[in-house]
Amino acid sequence: MPKSKPSTSDTIEIQKDTDKLVRFLSIYCDAHHEHRLRATFTFDHPKTSARVIKGPQLCDECVKLLRHAIVMRVLCPLDPKPKCRKCPEHCYRPVYRDQMETVMKYAGPRSLFRKG
Ligand SMILES: [Zn+2]
Repeated sequence: MPKSKPSTSDTIEIQKDTDKLVRFLSIYCDAHHEHRLRATFTFDHPKTSARVIKGPQLCDECVKLLRHAIVMRVLCPLDPKPKCRKCPEHCYRPVYRDQMETVMKYAGPRSLFRKG
């Protein structure tokens, strides 16, 4: 049987990455922006397969970064998608890229010890 990539696997991968981004931002915002005004994060864009129905509490700044990250992930034209760190495209806007690097550095190791 020829190996063709069903679009559902794309959807699953995108959702998996979205969930990971949500978890990272949640860990980071909890630790750094606990005293800011925060609201429940949701993401439901008709043109994307990524969904966040009832996300964590996030501040404004983290919401913007997370939305940008999800949209960029969804729009990623590379297949298979490389690790963003190794990607030659650098689709993130520079300001978001710096922020995301900080978030990843902080939340990456911590996310291993926290489920859900
Ligand atoms: Zn925050």
